[in-house]
Amino acid sequence: RAKETGKAHHRVFEENMGAEARDRLKLAGDLRRAIDGDEFRIYYQPLVVLDGERRVAGMEALLRWEHPDRGLLVPSQFLPVAEETGLILPIGMWVLEEACEQANAWRKEWPEGPPPMLCVNLSAKQMQAPDLVEDVSRILARTGLPPECLDLEITGDALAGDGGALASRLRELKALGVKLTVDDLGGQDASLSLPRRLPVDFLKIDRSVIDGLGRNPEDAAVTSAFIDLADAFGVTVIAEGIENAEQISRLREMGCKLGQGYHFSPPVPVPEVPWLRALRGA
Ligand code: C2E
Ligand code: MG
Ligand code: MG
Ligand code: MG
Repeated sequence: RAKETGKAHHRVFEENMGAEARDRLKLAGDLRRAIDGDEFRIYYQPLVVLDGERRVAGMEALLRWEHPDRGLLVPSQFLPVAEETGLILPIGMWVLEEACEQANAWRKEWPEGPPPMLCVNLSAKQMQAPDLVEDVSRILARTGLPPECLDLEITGDALAGDGGALASRLRELKALGVKLTVDDLGGQDASLSLPRRLPVDFLKIDRSVIDGLGRNPEDAAVTSAFIDLADAFGVTVIAEGIENAEQISRLREMGCKLGQGYHFSPPVPVPEVPWLRALRGA
């Protein structure tokens, strides 16, 4: 009897629970299973030198989830739940190891010119994980990828926390020999003052800013200010979300030498990556 009542209560509870909360609960369960079930995929988007040659200077690893019922999901559909549940930590380490292994294979297959840099995104939670530096170091050793070929991208929200702890964490990562990028500069959570004195190599301008180039004088002014700021700090600017040739010529006039975007290629699965070499000379 008590058991029956309990079940009924549970059912009522579930019915009253918001549909959204129920979806999140289901998603969290699915995510847990996905790690062991081999359901994650990494797509790669090329980072291109903005000159006539269009050399591929790097590849950004972007996570996808091949959900058995819902099809291919992009990060905005599951990263928030992965963050809340802490599952981003094991998922993030899987991404890092898988992508480093892949990048090391490309490095060998792609002998002409400097090897493409591998860019991997880290969330705020990953940046704060106590084992991060040790994990990165172990993965580099195990996969054989030279540290200077790995670039770790961190966003404004990861930089917004405790300045002292963050700066020493970044120095520890730099001591491994890897590169660091501040991602989404000029996007929602970023602020202009963030990169000051942090030991980073690249500033990546958010696509919301790049989007307005050629149409919106404010966006051109912000882009140009970021490029000057980067010059002053001795770091390199990357423009994200380039979708047309007009944006490229504006960026080149302003002195920006690296970019990525659908104009060159969307993120693609591994088998399509070799075709990206055709960007050379395009
Ligand atoms: P992000 O690091 O700023 O990556 C750039 C996003 O812009 C990607 O979205 C990419 O597909 C998209 N994009 C690139 N070029 C263009 C363009 O020309 N036009 C438009 N409209 N979009 C473009 P995606 O793959 O959905 O990833 C979204 C975000 O999820 C990433 O933003 C990154 O913050 C996060 N993310 C992706 N993979 C990982 C991961 O393995 N770990 C962590 N912690 N975060 C990840
Ligand atoms: Mg990124
Ligand atoms: Mg970005
Ligand atoms: Mg973003």
